Amino acid sequence: MQIIDNFNFAGKKAIVRVDFNVPLNKETGAVSDDTRIRGALPTIKKILADGGSVILMSHMGRPKQNPDPKFSLKQIISAVEERVGQTIQFAEDCANAEAQAAALKPGEILLLENLRFYEEEEGKPRGEFETEEAKKEAKKALKPKQKEFAKKLASYADVYVNDAFGTAHRAHGSTAVIAEFFAEENKMFGYLINSELIAMDKVLKDAQAPFTAIMGGAKVSDKILIIENLLDRVQNLIIGGGMTYTFIKAQGGEIGNSLCEADKLDLALEILEKAKAKGVNVYIPTDAVNADKFAADAETCVSKTDETPAGWMGLDIADETIATFSEVIANSKTVLWNGPMGVFEMEKFAKGTTAIAHAVAQATANGAFSLIGGGDSVAAINKNKLADKVSYVSTGGGAMLEYMEGKVLPGIEAIRGC
Ligand code: AMP
Repeated sequence: MQIIDNFNFAGKKAIVRVDFNVPLNKETGAVSDDTRIRGALPTIKKILADGGSVILMSHMGRPKQNPDPKFSLKQIISAVEERVGQTIQFAEDCANAEAQAAALKPGEILLLENLRFYEEEEGKPRGEFETEEAKKEAKKALKPKQKEFAKKLASYADVYVNDAFGTAHRAHGSTAVIAEFFAEENKMFGYLINSELIAMDKVLKDAQAPFTAIMGGAKVSDKILIIENLLDRVQNLIIGGGMTYTFIKAQGGEIGNSLCEADKLDLALEILEKAKAKGVNVYIPTDAVNADKFAADAETCVSKTDETPAGWMGLDIADETIATFSEVIANSKTVLWNGPMGVFEMEKFAKGTTAIAHAVAQATANGAFSLIGGGDSVAAINKNKLADKVSYVSTGGGAMLEYMEGKVLPGIEAIRGC
């Protein structure tokens, strides 16, 4: 596999898949969070410093037609220029940019318009279908067109670099199919994907014990695959958030109106049995902050999680649980955190998630390796200004989850082979 650090881009044109799917301010249209643009800078700078030229390609949002000004990457040109420190060129049509690509000189950057203006990018046919069968047929018919689309993009450049970790779990034209059109030595990951892979592999393949996985969020069903994959690797499994109550109910507790997946009760018991058989310590919240309604101004009370009063719902972990969880985390050498401990969007129910964010930072200060992934846990870390106090904050929610589930990501496989 080619390694970006070993590659000299001098005189080469590199087409780089980045994730510039950045949020825009609804009123001004300006980029409101440029984290993803900054994430791509090391790769862009390396190519330019070597004497190469850069063709940037990305998606933005979920456009349904071509073109759609709401989703145009034109809107981010000035933000990209500001970050790269030079003017950039723009191709209005990503699939008809050969002349601009050919004219590109060393040191120059060309940004292609939103890849998802073409249904070929995702390989998902647009429009209404009368039957599932018709949809399947349309998808099949789109496959060769997707190949052509990817081949066209590939024709603009000598080298392909994938640095869009956020879409690495998608088998799209620009994330996977395109790689077919480059020889082994001319395709590679950018620095962002490299660092994501190093962080995730450190946890999955090379974790120092004790390894604690903290799984929160709303539903067991969303986290079941990752929990199962982690049971062979962790010493401690901490459960939090809404999924707590499926476990509590499965064990016969009273959960009031708390979130519960009635069809996942057996699954919860199965997880507990598997964990026991593998010698994994499972920590489930013992006390909670309850609300009389799902609202920021709800009345609150604290109870044992298995004695939730009728009519109330558990929306955060309470002090006893915070203390237990914090101690387990503090004594860990590896920590993986995915999902909030409560409804942290509401101030009254944010304390548990904030406390866990601080516990993870403390464990890191004690020498642990900590990896945070998933939009909500990342938001909690950022909100508490702890991003530089943990080892790694993943940029790809869905991609990270799938990698942690043990799945092969198409964007990774296309370059690394597994
Ligand atoms: P997820 O996307 O699965 O990680 O879930 C995140 C969501 O779970 C957040 O929006 C939280 O508000 C929500 N959540 C966390 N704890 C609870 C809870 N006890 N009851 C209901 N929702 C919760």
